[in-house]
Amino acid sequence: MDLKQFITIVPDWPQEGVVFKDITTLMDNGEAYRYATDQIVQYAKEKEVDIIVGPEARGFIIGCPVSYALSLGFAPVRKEGKLPRETIKADYGKEYGKDKLTIHKDAIKPGQRVLITDDLLATGGTILATIELVEKLGGIVVGIAFLIELSYLNGREKLDGYDILSLMTF
Ligand code: 5GP
Repeated sequence: MDLKQFITIVPDWPQEGVVFKDITTLMDNGEAYRYATDQIVQYAKEKEVDIIVGPEARGFIIGCPVSYALSLGFAPVRKEGKLPRETIKADYGKEYGKDKLTIHKDAIKPGQRVLITDDLLATGGTILATIELVEKLGGIVVGIAFLIELSYLNGREKLDGYDILSLMTF
């Protein structure tokens, strides 16, 4: 299936100069959403993943159906102040804006094999911070899966040494 046909390009959103890739038109299509999920499920099986971790909010949209399909846990990474119990933090800068990401301190057990999911790899800042959180807790990042990779932003270079699956490249 050609998944790119389901992505809507939105120029100058959320600010001028950004060419936003809207994945909601892929999610709207049940067959396309399932097809994309199935590719990541297969990847997670190959990598013998123990737990899935995804940053809010679109990392949940990609990771949770994979979690369900494989009966694996899902640990949310959220912006500071959103998780109710004890957390650890990592700073990140992204394509547009800066923030702190957090994860519950007990979300991952040392030695667990972790798949990180997100909708899109841009500069790689979000995923670098997510990796930092997982590794601080002793998790092993065995794979990172995206729907979309924006190759012109070179995020992959920042993730050198990690195995990456991206279903579409722009
Ligand atoms: P990065 O940290 O790699 O620069 O940015 C990636 C993060 O920003 C992802 O969590 C993603 O959800 C969001 N993002 C940045 N640009 C886009 C875009 O064009 N489309 C979508 N759907 N998300 C984007």
